[in-house]
Amino acid sequence: MLHPKTTEITFKLNNGVQIPALGLGTASPKERAQETKQAVKAAIKAGYRHIDTAWFYRTEPYIGEAIKELIEDGVIRREDIFVTSKVWPVYWDNVSKSLDETLTDLGLDYVDLYLQHWPLCFQKVEDVKDGIHGIKGLPKKGEREALFAENADWMETYKQLEKIYLDPNDKRVRAIGVSNFPIEYLQRVLKECEVKPTVNQVEIHPHLPQWELKEFCAENNILLTAYSPLGSTGAPVIKLPLVKELSEKYHMTVNDILISYHIRKGTVVIPRSLNPVRIASCIEFAPLTEEEITLLDNIGKKEPIRYIDEFFASSIPGFTGEK
Ligand code: NDP
Repeated sequence: MLHPKTTEITFKLNNGVQIPALGLGTASPKERAQETKQAVKAAIKAGYRHIDTAWFYRTEPYIGEAIKELIEDGVIRREDIFVTSKVWPVYWDNVSKSLDETLTDLGLDYVDLYLQHWPLCFQKVEDVKDGIHGIKGLPKKGEREALFAENADWMETYKQLEKIYLDPNDKRVRAIGVSNFPIEYLQRVLKECEVKPTVNQVEIHPHLPQWELKEFCAENNILLTAYSPLGSTGAPVIKLPLVKELSEKYHMTVNDILISYHIRKGTVVIPRSLNPVRIASCIEFAPLTEEEITLLDNIGKKEPIRYIDEFFASSIPGFTGEK
């Protein structure tokens, strides 16, 4: 049976907008950020139509250069691609400014999806030399203590996103959503806000299947996006024996298996790579069976591993802040 490439599959958000199921992650290490330009060009030329970025990643200017050149060369039109970005907690009370900085760096008039990156509020600390647009990305006291804004509520950020989305004269976002939100926080959003998030972007892979969150989001028509699908730097999840076994069975790469695992479950997935050969050669869709998916899920049900357990996130249910 013939199957589409993973780059050709799309899902529908709860506001009707189509989102490509596979996106390129771009949280590149700071010293390699500029390589993101060639990665984006390789991805789009290989058929990717979705790029995931954020104000915090420092990769938006390079993504902007890539998109500009691809459009000038006639490879794509703006409307052919889906760009996701995120507002970082230093801008918890000024989403509009963060969005403008993102759009300037990307060289775009709008993003397709704009997410609240974390349900947290950081202080704004000036850092002209190393900051992002002059602001320290991660304000800290000592090594592992984040500087949180006092008397701040993360809900303020979502309310501002909502306001931008609902303003008929503001065309800067086509859809809004959240990231790193546990069920309890989503319940609060659903109760207190008018616009349902279209997406919740969280860490998911066989070591952390997040099945309860998946069930809750499915019931509420919120799409999940799986970040760190390979377990982040070093790609530890590809070493699972079952993943290797499935790659041999389907004659596909281990990356293909881990990408297909999400798409098969109706989850968007955003693996990162700066390697153009890897980007272009990991777009096969493996028609994994229900049984195979259950076996993969069971790995993390038995022994969950969260790879992105940021020290600043310990207040959020599900995080320990130990990494
Ligand atoms: P991934 O899980 O996608 O892993 C990426 C790493 O795996 C890269 O270093 C890549 O190296 C390496 N890799 C891929 N395939 C192989 C292979 N076959 N063998 C060896 N190494 C391999 O990591 P991320 O944590 O970056 O997650 C993906 C994206 O999700 C991010 O880039 C970002 O866009 C998003 N994200 C969002 C977060 C949020 O809070 N909302 C948090 C974390 C991530 P190479 O470059 O050599 O291919």
